[in-house]
Amino acid sequence: MILIDGKATAAALRAELAEAVAAARSDGARAPGLAVILVGEDPASQVYVRNKERACAEAGIVSFPHHLPAQTSQADLLALIRACNADANVDGILLQLPLPGGLDAQACLLAIDPDKDVDGFHPMNVGRLSLDLPGFVSCTPAGVMELLRRYELPTAGQRAVVVGRSNIVGKPLAMLLSRPGPYGDATVTVCHSRTPDLAAQCRQADFLFLALGRPRSITADMVREGAVVIDVGINRTPEGLCGDADFTAVSKKVRAITPVPGGVGPMTIAMLLANTVQSWRQRLSL
Ligand code: NDP
Repeated sequence: MILIDGKATAAALRAELAEAVAAARSDGARAPGLAVILVGEDPASQVYVRNKERACAEAGIVSFPHHLPAQTSQADLLALIRACNADANVDGILLQLPLPGGLDAQACLLAIDPDKDVDGFHPMNVGRLSLDLPGFVSCTPAGVMELLRRYELPTAGQRAVVVGRSNIVGKPLAMLLSRPGPYGDATVTVCHSRTPDLAAQCRQADFLFLALGRPRSITADMVREGAVVIDVGINRTPEGLCGDADFTAVSKKVRAITPVPGGVGPMTIAMLLANTVQSWRQRLSL
């Protein structure tokens, strides 16, 4: 059984990015820049933003923090986004969600220049993904695909089941898996809360992707012998963090599995850095 180590993979990816940035910098290129916009004092968002800013610094990416009060008006927030769009030193714009009540997240995401939308949430990038055009892919599903590539677990010709259809995880992941290519070309089934007999669907999967947010709800009897299980779920329970799979029992019958914590989670920030570096390379024609 292969235990997919997301922490080590993310660290390797971050080191590669840092090296590429350092090499270009020594040739005279400016540093990659990420504008980080946080509105309000949500404690979880503050932790996420701090972690992202620290990860940027380690990779040689300059972050431009914009920490605004919860009372910020929609007009002021949009004006800040437009200023970041126009700033030649900014390659990526991260708008930390959720926004405080009264602010329209959709309108703000739409205002971000799609070529600086390193979170991949702009409808233009979602459209590019669905048309197999190059663009920014949402960081968590991009991180899942990176794990499959680095562990050489190709999905072509395999049956993939994605449990969850959210805009940030399940839906883009299903699109990535059905793209042409060795890490694509899967026959994809998307399940959600209205799917009858979820267990029967899951048992069909050669590759099972879990993004439903229900602690340990996918039990060993729902998993095919020798399947690859990628558990995106992060659930807080009294005993600590756990995934959507009943890890102890499920891991006994699979070919490969991601643990929680230490699986997909660490890849998300690494892919945000990768997207920022990708934008910087495109902007500087590196
Ligand atoms: P959402 O709550 O937005 O979506 C959950 C999806 O799961 C929905 O499509 C829902 O169906 C479906 N679902 C819920 N219950 C069931 C059920 N009993 N049977 C079948 N389907 C079900 O969550 P997210 O996509 O944002 O996140 C999913 C999980 O991934 C969470 O645990 C979250 O914490 C984690 N996560 C982890 C990240 C990481 O970095 N590793 C990043 C983002 C999320 P319906 O559409 O019908 O409601």
